[in-house]
Amino acid sequence: MKKFDKCPCGSGAAYNECCGAIISGSRKAQTPEELMRSRYTAYVVKNVDYLVQTTHPTLRTDDLEKSIRKWMRQVEWLKLHIIAAEGDRVEFMAEYLSATAPGRHHECSVFKKLNDEWFYLGEEFDSSL
Ligand SMILES: [Zn+2]
Repeated sequence: MKKFDKCPCGSGAAYNECCGAIISGSRKAQTPEELMRSRYTAYVVKNVDYLVQTTHPTLRTDDLEKSIRKWMRQVEWLKLHIIAAEGDRVEFMAEYLSATAPGRHHECSVFKKLNDEWFYLGEEFDSSL
């Protein structure tokens, strides 16, 4: 695995003291934002298991792993911007590079706590759009 001095999530902290510590399991994500950052970083370092594990159990479908791998193959994540983090919601924008062009992924993610651990519940669809 590629070594990162600075955490890919853009916090400015060292990888091992930021998302690295959460991904390796040495500490738990305390907030939805921490979990969101660590999941973004897991995409960068290509840790599929971590992404599956942090998806809410009710959403771990048979093809979840496959779709995560597909994302990883198709895009290279460049930069994460946290737009807003409030309660169980985190709105973010992530810049990526695909085979054809650079792009941006904008999402408002919903998280849920289960047995004192945060999990990714999915994307909130804004009905006003
Ligand atoms: Zn980080």
